[in-house]
Amino acid sequence: MSSSSPGPADRRAEIDLDAVRSNVRHIARIASPAKVMAVVKADAYGHGAVPVARAALEAGAAWLGVAHISEAVALRDAEIDAPLLAWLHTPASDFAAGIENSVDLGVSGWELEHVVAAARALERPARIHLKIDTGLGRNGCPPEQWEALLRKAVEYQEAGLLRVVGIFSHLAVADEPERPETDDQVQRFRDAVAVAAELGVEVEVRHLANTPATLSRPDCHFDLVRVGLGIYGLSPFTDQTSDALGLRPAMTLTASVAGCKEVPAGQGVSYGFAYRTAERTTLGLIPVGYGDGVPRIATGAPVMVDDRCYPVVGRIAMDQLVIDFGVAGLADTDQSPLGHRAVLFGGNGAPSAEAWAAASHSINYEVVTRISSRVPRIYLHEAADDD
Ligand SMILES: *Cc1c(COP(=O)(O)O)cnc(C)c1O
Repeated sequence: MSSSSPGPADRRAEIDLDAVRSNVRHIARIASPAKVMAVVKADAYGHGAVPVARAALEAGAAWLGVAHISEAVALRDAEIDAPLLAWLHTPASDFAAGIENSVDLGVSGWELEHVVAAARALERPARIHLKIDTGLGRNGCPPEQWEALLRKAVEYQEAGLLRVVGIFSHLAVADEPERPETDDQVQRFRDAVAVAAELGVEVEVRHLANTPATLSRPDCHFDLVRVGLGIYGLSPFTDQTSDALGLRPAMTLTASVAGCKEVPAGQGVSYGFAYRTAERTTLGLIPVGYGDGVPRIATGAPVMVDDRCYPVVGRIAMDQLVIDFGVAGLADTDQSPLGHRAVLFGGNGAPSAEAWAAASHSINYEVVTRISSRVPRIYLHEAADDD
């Protein structure tokens, strides 16, 4: 454990900003000469957008990325002035706020007219990144409309209303590196970039890769890689751990053991009595539940207390869950774990976010991102050590 860690810990998500810095440096080496965009949408996947953005920039990230303009404006309000892209809009989005705050705007089609109207009203050119749909089927311009979109953008650029700063796209199956569809997406991206070049559009950055493509496909790096999961130290691959990838999980979710009691065989545990003890045993009460973003379906997931892992038993409730220590004779002795530190997932030998993902039929992305604002974030190593 790190030296700056816990005094009494009720419930907390510890965010190790040194882990974030180390992950960013590691990814920057892999991506070089491409630059790194640290993706800090969704409050930095639950880690806290402002502190993570600062740590990522300290460690060499050149850009920041978010989904919504509102997320970008919140970073600007925190006086973060790095290049910043927001790519998911609705007709109700505040494009003017984006332009006024020097936020680059992703444009897939319809957004162009809205962005231009805002730029005209502000008398200030927008900075845009045109997005091509190379196959994912979410936003992005369909290939058959790409040339028309480029031509319109060039017209507006010549009128001084915008500058086309980038061209980008997003991958669908890069977490399964053996799948051939990524090759198709790369080819369509190259084609889209070529069409832009033919029309005389000179962009600063072409970007396609997410975390898995950054780690597994150098041919996807182009000028910039957009990395979310990796900077949080988690693996996008089912067959490779964080450790194997040289990454350190940044979030550790902990709570103090709130109760410890001995129960007889046949004791029902939690709502519905979905679990009954097989023999006399000791139960531990952990004060986190789905109100804290812990998945309700994750029964069976591991919780570590005093360096050993115990399973969550019975239903997870809004505020609490129960673990079975599997032995009698602990409660009300000096071996009682009451008040001890329980770790649900994290780094440094804790159970993994992947174990919780498996227990919840989900992915590590969701496990960390859904930890709610009810859980205080405690930042470790806020100041970068000079080393
Ligand atoms: C979320 C997101 C990313 C980051 O993906 P990771 O797999 O977490 O690296 C990159 N690009 C876009 C467009 C995204 O929405």
